[in-house]
Amino acid sequence: MQTIEQALEKLSRSRFRAGFHLNDGDMEYLEKKGGDVIRSHARDFVRQKLAPAEPANDGKQTPMRGHPVFKAMHGTACCCRGCLNKWYRVPLHRELTETEQEKIVNLLMAWIGREAEQRRERQQKDSPEAELRQTRPGDTGSKARRRQTKPAACTQETEKTDNTKK
Ligand SMILES: [Zn+2]
Repeated sequence: MQTIEQALEKLSRSRFRAGFHLNDGDMEYLEKKGGDVIRSHARDFVRQKLAPAEPANDGKQTPMRGHPVFKAMHGTACCCRGCLNKWYRVPLHRELTETEQEKIVNLLMAWIGREAEQRRERQQKDSPEAELRQTRPGDTGSKARRRQTKPAACTQETEKTDNTKK
């Protein structure tokens, strides 16, 4: 069984998965809500979107943006049961156990933690006064640079074309 570290390392080698990143808005949201709240959101999303034996719209149930956990779900290949099956051999057509759900949540939170860390490191390198800003509450940062590469839908990661369903 692979560890979270191993999973993240494997994901970083996928161009598609490594293309997902938190942006300024995601970071603001994270800081505003705090880790416990984000984790509870992650639990809810996993329960609603992944846990059912036959999730609604599987393959399309996870938006590409709008919540840091959504990004994490795509970044970790925990976006749908098809990807969970492909990457982690999680069987299809049965409900996820509590343990499986918790493992997914842990992976999502690890991904978010690493993203946040990398962003902070980059910011500190970019601006010498970043340390000063860090402690100031109410600093919402710059929204001007919210540029984002637009990834393709997660189903396109697989080589085969999706002609099977309408
Ligand atoms: Zn997927």
